[in-house]
Amino acid sequence: MVSSKFKEILLKLGVSQDRIETLEMKGGIVEDEFEGIRYLRFKDSAGKLRRGTVVFDEEDIIPGFPHIKRVVNLEEGIRRAFRNREFYVEEKVDGYNVRVAKIEDRIIAITRGGFVCPFTTERITDFIPQEFFKDHPNLVLVGEMAGPESPYLIEGPPYVKEDIKFFLFDIQEKITGKSLPVEERLKIAQEYGIPHVEVFGKFTRNDLKELYELIEKLSREGREGIVMKSPDMKKIVKYVTPFANINDIRVGARVFYELPPGYFTSRISRLAFYVAEKRIKGEGLRKLAEDLGMALLQPLVESILDVEQGDEIAEVFKIRVKKIETAYKMVTHFEKLGLNIEIVDIEELNNGMWRVTFKRVYSDATSEIRELIGGKAF
Ligand code: ATP
Repeated sequence: MVSSKFKEILLKLGVSQDRIETLEMKGGIVEDEFEGIRYLRFKDSAGKLRRGTVVFDEEDIIPGFPHIKRVVNLEEGIRRAFRNREFYVEEKVDGYNVRVAKIEDRIIAITRGGFVCPFTTERITDFIPQEFFKDHPNLVLVGEMAGPESPYLIEGPPYVKEDIKFFLFDIQEKITGKSLPVEERLKIAQEYGIPHVEVFGKFTRNDLKELYELIEKLSREGREGIVMKSPDMKKIVKYVTPFANINDIRVGARVFYELPPGYFTSRISRLAFYVAEKRIKGEGLRKLAEDLGMALLQPLVESILDVEQGDEIAEVFKIRVKKIETAYKMVTHFEKLGLNIEIVDIEELNNGMWRVTFKRVYSDATSEIRELIGGKAF
């Protein structure tokens, strides 16, 4: 049940009584709690309130992070998005999205889906100075948490060698979700020493050659892609590298039956547009085709062989926490997300932190493969 406090806030925001009731019935809004702080989470969008919006109280409303449109043809995508105007090009860091805000007297980290994440909330002050929120209590820092020791992704960018790091890419106002212009954001990041995604500079559509070269370089380095932003942040589009498309397929193929077919087809088509735009032929095409084929086939075959041997398809990942309690809170958090994840090891590190190992079992993929190996006909 959603309490009357939140219903009143929604009414003030212009959501009708009927709409609130329907949302509540369908589970589109859910009341939740984090260490004594109650909040309302939007699982679905409602009017202007996007999915992932979180309401703590009248002033503390953190809008859901908007979808960023993707271009698959770089030249035409840039032309349509920016015409002849300048745009900033930033790295698209491969991690998970967090919105960080001060609520009451605490700094809280919220995931894309609108959950307060116990792990990210515990660790975020390792990366963000608290002074920022003393000076700007009405602003939300939006960034990517990325690294090899992440609770949500098994891989991170190549330059984060251990643990996890925060990379700022947006600063928004509470309630309106309006973004600060790029220059203001960069100034704030520098002033407070907040780590920022790499900014490759300002470009126009006349710099296409440099952009193609940048994509090739990022791809060679195993990086995910770029996000292009007008200086006022009103127009934003993303483009991912061929490396990222193939790598996502490799990671997904291990748990093939857990993912919708669209996961694979969308990435294959993005790669095809890249090949077509760059007119890649001959040996270059053969190499990409081989990489794609192996990425799709090899991990799936490995999964089949694992299940044949009696193993389950599972993923093991580690995170570093300051309090063991945080790891247990993550288990409850994963349960809320409907994930089957348990702690398999806890090890004390020499800096007073703990490294916790989790195991995620993919039971649907395991049982599907088990049945197919067993001769199931379909
Ligand atoms: P959606 O399509 O709704 O944006 P998604 O999770 O499929 O969701 P992605 O393809 O991962 O989206 O790309 C968008 C995400 O990229 C953002 O939500 C953000 O977390 C991440 N990101 C990484 N670096 C940047 C950056 N420099 N600027 C903006 N977003 C970035």
